[in-house]
Amino acid sequence: MNRYIIAGNWKMNMKKVEIRDFFDKVSGVSNIENSSFITKIVCPVFPMIPYAMEMSENTSIIIGSQNVSEHEKGAFTGEVSASILNSIEVTYCIIGHSERRQYFKETDAAVKQKWLQLRAEKINPIICVGETLSERESGKTFNVIKKQIEGIFKGVDIEAGEDLMIAYEPVWAIGTGKTATPEIAQEVHAYIRKLLTNIYGECSKNIPLLYGGSVKSSNVKDLLSQADINGALVGGASLDPNEYASLVKYAGELIVND
Ligand code: PEP
Repeated sequence: MNRYIIAGNWKMNMKKVEIRDFFDKVSGVSNIENSSFITKIVCPVFPMIPYAMEMSENTSIIIGSQNVSEHEKGAFTGEVSASILNSIEVTYCIIGHSERRQYFKETDAAVKQKWLQLRAEKINPIICVGETLSERESGKTFNVIKKQIEGIFKGVDIEAGEDLMIAYEPVWAIGTGKTATPEIAQEVHAYIRKLLTNIYGECSKNIPLLYGGSVKSSNVKDLLSQADINGALVGGASLDPNEYASLVKYAGELIVND
């Protein structure tokens, strides 16, 4: 079983030439020690997915999507359905990112629908949750996380073998350079684990929990060393191929081979 996940969210960045350059520079990523125990994902914008897939062919990096429609198909101009993603062999998709929640008013109910669309197509979701700065400062972090987790998961059973991930991304740490301390991140991850156990019982122990928010090569090891942090969702640093490879390298160093 893979021990860590390093997922890059490229957001609205990376044109064709930059994608080619990225994959040229990370071409040796599979040779990094313990690379095979790390699930490596990057998520470009929709139109670049096929090109990134082509460029990534020899790298063991999987290409994911940053979003999906909550609708199955039809008259939803500008949207992309889970079945269309499936038809081009996308296997991972970020949903509920705080930028989607903030700028496009996505609710937990919409995130739940997106998850249901993805699971119908056997695409693995990376479901984001997290509190804003004012919510943290007013002591509401745990309430906000509870509302988000229960709003998405309550009432839906998980199926055996279902591969889903949750990313805890405190909004105040995204793109700000202010990383949550490993202790702060662990505290919330442990709480998410508890909420999932309340809903799903013991099988939720296998759901990977990623931390996201200004992760870079200089802090990734401390974060991944925490008991309930199984990987990282990385924005800015994932645009730089050397940084991305370093994230994989440091994660690899934490893997103890039996
Ligand atoms: C993100 O957008 O998911 C993210 C974590 O961004 P950054 O690493 O730049 O903070």
